[in-house]
Amino acid sequence: MHCPFCSTPDTRVIDSRLADDGDQVRRRRECIECGERFTTYETAELNLPRVVKTDGTRQPFNEDKLRSGMMKALEKRPVSTEQIEASVHRIKHKLMSAGDREIPAQRIGEWVMEELKSLDRVAYIRFASVYLSFENVAAFREAIEKLEQ
Ligand SMILES: [Zn+2]
Repeated sequence: MHCPFCSTPDTRVIDSRLADDGDQVRRRRECIECGERFTTYETAELNLPRVVKTDGTRQPFNEDKLRSGMMKALEKRPVSTEQIEASVHRIKHKLMSAGDREIPAQRIGEWVMEELKSLDRVAYIRFASVYLSFENVAAFREAIEKLEQ
C-alpha cells in the first residue's frame, strides 16, 4: 500500500492485530522511504451486490424474495426447509464471492435453476416456466392452439 505521506509504493507492516472483536485487522505500517508510520484497518466487504433487472432498473438484493420464489416452485414437494435454506445460502455465497457491485437478475435466476435442478425436477420445471420469459410460453401456447384449430 502506498505511503500517504510521500506516495512511495512500498510500506512495511510492523504490527498486525485483531480489532473490533476480530471483525477487523488493524495494521501499523511504516514507510520504507520516508519512515513515517500510519495505521490501516482491514474489514471484509460482504455487501451484497445490487440486482440489475432486464429493464435496467436496479434493486437491492432481497433474500426473502429469493426464498419465496423458490418456496413457491417447491410447494407441496418433498424438499425440506433445511435443503431450501442450504440452497439460499449457496446462492448468497455466490453473490458475495462474486465481489461485483451489481449482478444481473438473470444470473441469480440461473443459480436458482441450478439449485432447483438438484433439489426437485418438478420445482425446476415450475420455476423455469415462469422465469424463462413468460411471453415465449404464451407464444408457444398460442402456436399450439392454432395447430389444433
Ligand atoms: Zn513515505
